[in-house]
Amino acid sequence: MNKIPDATPEITKQIRPEAVAERVRSVRERIAQACERADRSPDEITIVAISKTFPMQALESGTAAGLNHFGENRARQLRDKAKARPGAFEGGDVTWHMVGHLQTNKAKFVARHADWFDALDSPRLADELNKRAAKNDRVLPCLVQVNITGEDQKYGLSPDEVHDYLDHCAQYDHLAVRGLMALASFVDDPEDVRGEFQRMRELFETYDASNNPQVEMAELSIGMSNDFEVAIEEGSTMIRLGTSIFGPRDYD
Ligand SMILES: *Cc1c(COP(=O)(O)O)cnc(C)c1O
Repeated sequence: MNKIPDATPEITKQIRPEAVAERVRSVRERIAQACERADRSPDEITIVAISKTFPMQALESGTAAGLNHFGENRARQLRDKAKARPGAFEGGDVTWHMVGHLQTNKAKFVARHADWFDALDSPRLADELNKRAAKNDRVLPCLVQVNITGEDQKYGLSPDEVHDYLDHCAQYDHLAVRGLMALASFVDDPEDVRGEFQRMRELFETYDASNNPQVEMAELSIGMSNDFEVAIEEGSTMIRLGTSIFGPRDYD
């Protein structure tokens, strides 16, 4: 969630497919209700199921329950899982998102195996990813991560840097920036992060991409298990759900 150590712990957690199916049903119901309150259609919301720390069985249970977007926060785990079940770029039937901070020395895994990179947060990383994507003869869809809470331990650009950074991304022929991503503050009451989501939406809506061929503000990735309904009410188009689909994790 916050800054992640480099080591990749072993995956030992098991899950029950029936439990995943039941949780997906419940999540879809809550999405529908949030959409109704916000006068939106559930079709506007993509669920990115965060399978980190769970075995391949999570993918199988997830796809059986109708999910097809999956997210990992460690580049090596994404690579290993995408080798077992390839994403769309590699001809597969799922869409892989790398949602965690990426060190430049692992950009090659993402450029090779991920369908989306949802945590773009520096010029240096963009340089490297653009180079690696070019080597794979592809254009990689990306989201720019914003540190909307201002906490030191969270990654992302500060809100006042975001629009300049999007301008900067015009030079990357092999990156397609498709919007913004953020993690809200950790709170008990999701109402307490509504303001953070509103600031994200404002950053999202006020960027003028008309002269920037590499940027299109199409996706706003806000909302996780504890706050996705508020995020939907505030304009989210991609919610990243781990616990509410796969159950509790042993580590992040
Ligand atoms: C783990 C993770 C999530 C999912 O968290 P939950 O609270 O379990 O839904 C979402 N986004 C990122 C970037 C994550 O690392």
